[in-house]
Amino acid sequence: MKTDVLIIGGGLAGAATAYFLAREGVDVLLAERFDLNTQASGANAGNLHIQIPHETFVTEGDNWAREFAPTIPLMLESVKLWTEIGDDIGCDLGVSTTGGLLVANSEHEMRDISRKAAIEQRWGARIELLGRNEVRACAPYISRDVVGGAFCPDEGRANPLTATPGFAAAASRHGARIVRNTEIHALSQTGGRFTACTRDGAIEARRVVNCAGADAGSVAGMLGINLPIEGHPIQMTVTEPVKPIVPHLVYAASEKLTLKQMNNGTFLIGGGWPATRRGTDGKLAVSLASLRDNLRVALSVVPALANVHIVRTWPAIVNGTADWKPVLGEVPGHAGFFVNVFPWMGFSAGPISALIVAELVLGRRPSFDLKRFSAMRYG
Ligand SMILES: Cc1cc2nc3c(=O)[nH]c(=O)nc-3n(C[C@H](O)[C@H](O)[C@H](O)COP(=O)(O)OP(=O)(O)OC[C@H]3O[C@@H](n4cnc5c(N)ncnc54)[C@H](O)[C@@H]3O)c2cc1C
Repeated sequence: MKTDVLIIGGGLAGAATAYFLAREGVDVLLAERFDLNTQASGANAGNLHIQIPHETFVTEGDNWAREFAPTIPLMLESVKLWTEIGDDIGCDLGVSTTGGLLVANSEHEMRDISRKAAIEQRWGARIELLGRNEVRACAPYISRDVVGGAFCPDEGRANPLTATPGFAAAASRHGARIVRNTEIHALSQTGGRFTACTRDGAIEARRVVNCAGADAGSVAGMLGINLPIEGHPIQMTVTEPVKPIVPHLVYAASEKLTLKQMNNGTFLIGGGWPATRRGTDGKLAVSLASLRDNLRVALSVVPALANVHIVRTWPAIVNGTADWKPVLGEVPGHAGFFVNVFPWMGFSAGPISALIVAELVLGRRPSFDLKRFSAMRYG
């Protein structure tokens, strides 16, 4: 098979990049080793984040946050895209932006929140600091132990089950070819052309976009490129549907928590609690200790959850980078080889990362300063 642009990976990054290129008339072939949307993009919580993750702020510190904060303009633009793009691709993405509320149980946590908010505001995020009574007024479902918080009105949620398939279907309508069950197991570059080896033969391409999520490091390694992308097993829990109680995306400053109620009444509860790898093949399993602790934190913030049954908990691998920053763009010294990896919050950032990388493949000037997000930082 021959193509102009080969996209490796059929998660949100790959499907959205395929869409933005195909709609410009580019000849695109997307190869996915399993089926579309079977990894992080289909297993995630669907939160649309803008705020800097609080736990990481506390563990990594203010300097880290200042380095990371240039991702905020990308997140803002991505959430805007989320609210618009469903019409373009003809898909209900289940987007709702009713705001994200980070709550504190102590004055100490409140001081951390306000230092983080100052950094976020500097990069354009709308963050409102709230006292105890203001939290109660805006979110009466929150525990009385909460002393205050920060509210970002632009955060929300979208549906991970429809997003990647929606982008992929729209890409196909614009002529993109999508091949499933097709793992790229070797990749080489000679004379400005790439050859990708699959079980069913070679794919030749003029350009390659690496959208392999947690495996993007292995794909880059096929060309001898050092790209230290991590994969961390984490887990999510969904409850039975109940009447509407919580309109916001809720976080806790005390421990890992993200929590929200979906349109169908179910709660999705997570926050990055670790799952377990089992046996010699590293199969993922739910950690009961994480489940217990995740639910304990959830209950302490939203006491009404005490009456709600959980239905399912599942593990999945999240793509990570040590500095939490994305890797976006052409790899220096490897003309024609592009990377689209947005770690940890790659669902929120999926549309903008894909649009940026597509612009770069099209030879256009990107609308953001991408210096900090180059693969160059790995030497
Ligand atoms: C439990 C969980 C909850 C999360 N919650 C949120 C959230 O609420 N909000 C948020 O913003 N982010 C969240 N994330 C992170 C987010 O899901 C990811 O950052 C994002 O989905 C990454 O998208 P991707 O397309 O890069 O990767 P993936 O969806 O993992 O897709 C990569 C694809 O590449 C394929 N692939 C890999 N190697 C090859 C190869 N050699 N050949 C062919 N195909 C290959 C894989 O099979 C896979 O389908 C969460 C992640 C997890 C696991």
